[in-house]
Amino acid sequence: MDRIPLSRPEITDADRDAVMAVMASGRLALGPALGRFEAAMADTCAGSAALACSSGTAALYLALRGLGIGPGDEVITVSYTFVGTLNAILATGATPVLVDVDAETRNMDPALLEASITPRTRAVMPVHLFGRAAPMEAIMSICGRRRIHVIEDACEALGARIGDRPVGAIGTCGAFGFYPNKPITTGEGGALVSDDPELIARCRALANQGRRPGDALPSLDAVGFNFRLSEMAAALGASQLERLSETMDRRAAVAACYHEVLAGLDLLRPPLEVPGETLSWFVYVVELPDGVGRDRVRERLAQQGIETGLYFPAVHRSETHRARSAVRAPLPVTEQLAERCLALPFWPGLQSDAVERVAGALAELLSRR
Ligand SMILES: *Cc1c(COP(=O)(O)O)cnc(C)c1O
Repeated sequence: MDRIPLSRPEITDADRDAVMAVMASGRLALGPALGRFEAAMADTCAGSAALACSSGTAALYLALRGLGIGPGDEVITVSYTFVGTLNAILATGATPVLVDVDAETRNMDPALLEASITPRTRAVMPVHLFGRAAPMEAIMSICGRRRIHVIEDACEALGARIGDRPVGAIGTCGAFGFYPNKPITTGEGGALVSDDPELIARCRALANQGRRPGDALPSLDAVGFNFRLSEMAAALGASQLERLSETMDRRAAVAACYHEVLAGLDLLRPPLEVPGETLSWFVYVVELPDGVGRDRVRERLAQQGIETGLYFPAVHRSETHRARSAVRAPLPVTEQLAERCLALPFWPGLQSDAVERVAGALAELLSRR
């Protein structure tokens, strides 16, 4: 039986042509593809400027550094996220303050955010988890009053909208990731988008050894890094971005197919639609009922060639991360989600017969309890 992987990137002839054109040009770094990709990202996210960089984690880290956040500062975020969110904060020397998520949206709970603010809070990093926007209106209103920066972790949500506003430039800035399972891919890569061109300029310098535009030599007054993105990667990203809305539609169709074939099973499905919002389907995560051994389910599915993922373990359960973070209240929703969640195979070209095979295997395992 064919193996059904958890995720698979979609590379078209146009993508290949775009990368080959760069190879033929001989200009493999800091060339025109980068500028084109950045302009398209800014445009897609309704921001005024964008910086392409080497990963989503790098984009989050650059945002924090560009805002001057470091040791002694607190950044409020969630524990139900990919560990990169936390690692970016820890790399600056700041302290992540972890709050619980809402059981239904699986996103940051604004009331808990507000209760966690201290005089040391410099930024909030909401995560648009699994392609669903965090409650930005409430978050912006809480933070705006106190001049706290909002850095959107939009790594999983390129193209998601609240009303007609795309995520990414609603807050101070937003980070995107382009690993092969993300809404678009550049292999490895990321971007930062903002409505503040000066912030993007500071981050651009930090991503390029501290150089300011036009500097031939690295500037000596900023400790920068090399977080640049290659021309090949930028060309691939620009090509993928051109068909983002088509890709989002195809991902939504796979989600709708899962929604239908999983109906009636004893598990919790994510909502197919959210009023007033556009989802950018990133993964399809179900919650198994209490008492179901998730490891056993995963193992049995794997035996049938069906790969699943744990999106996500609670980050505060890692000793290393817990020791460096502040958890000032219990995180019961996060712990429950992290124990029950199961990510099913998901990518834009996933066929309905494969979705039915996954559902059939799950149905059998759940009925045999
Ligand atoms: C993927 C992801 C990141 C990091 O992206 P990389 O490109 O892998 O560094 C950060 N946050 C979230 C929520 C992600 O899903």
